[in-house]
Amino acid sequence: MLVCSEKDIWTQFLECLKGRCSISEYQNWIEPIKVIECTNDIIKLEVPNIFVQEYLVDNYKDIMHLFFPKNANGELALEFLIAPPKKIDAPNIKPPVKIETEKPASNFNLQYTFENFIEGPSNQFVKSAAFGVASRPGKTFNPLFIHGGVGLGKTHLLHGIGHFIHNHQKKLTAQYITTEAFINDLVNHLRNKSVDKMKQYYRSLDVLLVDDIQFLQNRLNFEEEFCNTFESLINQNKQIVITSDKPPSQLKLSERIVARMEWGLVANIGIPDLETRVAIIQHKANQKNIVIPSNVAFFIADHIYNNVRQLEGAINRLSAYCRLMRVELTEEVAENILREMFEYKPPSKITVEGILKTVASVFEVRVSDIKGESRLKNIAQARQVAMYLAKELMDESLMKIASSFGGKTHSTLLHAWKKISLQISIDKTLEKQIQMVKRNLGS
Ligand code: ADP
Ligand code: MG
Repeated sequence: MLVCSEKDIWTQFLECLKGRCSISEYQNWIEPIKVIECTNDIIKLEVPNIFVQEYLVDNYKDIMHLFFPKNANGELALEFLIAPPKKIDAPNIKPPVKIETEKPASNFNLQYTFENFIEGPSNQFVKSAAFGVASRPGKTFNPLFIHGGVGLGKTHLLHGIGHFIHNHQKKLTAQYITTEAFINDLVNHLRNKSVDKMKQYYRSLDVLLVDDIQFLQNRLNFEEEFCNTFESLINQNKQIVITSDKPPSQLKLSERIVARMEWGLVANIGIPDLETRVAIIQHKANQKNIVIPSNVAFFIADHIYNNVRQLEGAINRLSAYCRLMRVELTEEVAENILREMFEYKPPSKITVEGILKTVASVFEVRVSDIKGESRLKNIAQARQVAMYLAKELMDESLMKIASSFGGKTHSTLLHAWKKISLQISIDKTLEKQIQMVKRNLGS
C-alpha cells in the first residue's frame, strides 16, 4: 500500500543520497530498494537482501533521521521486508543422476580467500553477496552475477567462495571453471563421444563457479549446453556464481540465457578508491614480507588506479629491485622503477564538455545542437549517447551529471542510458560509433 508522500519523503531522501555516494554504490545498494508503504507514520521498504538493509542503516542513518518519520521513542519508524526469492519456471529437464565421487582436493588458489580480499566502498556489496552465497549456497541469491573491469577481483572472489565452501561445508562439491575451460571440456567430450558423462558431472555439483562468461559470446553451439547445465543446477537449487566483464544485458548471448542470469543478484565490482588501494598494497606487501613505507604506498596507489593486478605487479617489481640492489624502498626509487608503468599516463579526466565535443564530431552534429532542445533524430540520438557515456565514464552522481546537460533531470539521464544500452546490443553501427568516441576520449 503506497499511501502518500512517497515522492516527498523517499524521493527527497534519494536525491540527498545521490549527492553523497558514487554511481556504482547507488546502483548496487540503493536502486534495488522498493517502497512498500510510505505514510507520515511509517516507511516500509522492500530490500533484496539483508546486506542492503545493513548498508542503508549503517551508512545513512543520519540522513534517514532528517527525512523519515519517527515513533514515540524518537526512533526511526522504518521497517524492512526481505524480497521473496524470484520464482523459477518449472524444470523441463530430467533430474540429473548424482555420481558418487570422492570430494576432490581444493583446486582453489590459496591466496584468493575472503580474508585476503580488501574491502572498500567499490567492492563491499559484492564481497558481502559472495560471502552470503558461500555461507548459504543456493539459499540466498541464485545465480549471483558479478561484473566489472579487468583486475578488480572477480576471480579472487570466485575462489574465495570456493575456499569457504571447501572449508565450511564439507559435504558440498564446488567447482571453479573458466568459460574457456568449460568449452574445451565440452569439445573434448564431444570428440570422445562422452558428453553424457560430462553432463552428469556438472549436474551433480552443488556449487558451480563460472569465470568470464563473456567468452561464451559468439559460441552458439556451446551456449545451449551451458544454458542447459545452468538450468539443471538452478532448478535443483544448486548455487551458481558467474563473472563477466559486463552486465548480462550487454552480453551478446541469447535472451534465454541473459534472462536466467538476471534472475538472481547482479552486482558490480568497481575501481577501488585511493584508501582501499593503499590498504591492498599494504596487505599484499605484508603477505610477501615486504615493508612498504606509507608515502611510497600512497605514491603507487596514486599512479596505478584502475587495476589491482597492476598494483601487485608494481609491488613485485619494486621488491625485486630493492632486494637485488640492496637499496631502501623510497618514493624516489619507486618513481624511477615504476616510470615505465606510469607511462600509461592516467587518461585525462573525462568531463561532460569533452564528451559533448567528441560525440558531436563522431555523430557529425554541433555541440550547441546536443545542448539544445531539438528532437531531430540524429541530434536526439547524439544527446542520448552523450548522456549514456557521461553516466558510464564519469564517477559523479547522476544529479551532478544531469545538471551539466543544461539542467536535465537524473531520470532523463537514466532513460537515455537505458535506451542506448539496449540499442548498442542490436545496432552495430551505433556500437562502433560509441567505441570511437571512447577511444577519442582515451578511455
Ligand atoms: P579479475 O578477475 O576481476 O580480472 P582478479 O580476481 O584476477 O581480477 O584480481 C587480480 C589481482 O588483484 C589478484 O591477485 C587479486 O588477488 C587482486 N585483487 C583484486 N581486488 C582485490 C582486493 N579487493 N583485495 C585484495 N586483492 C585484490
Ligand atoms: Mg578474472
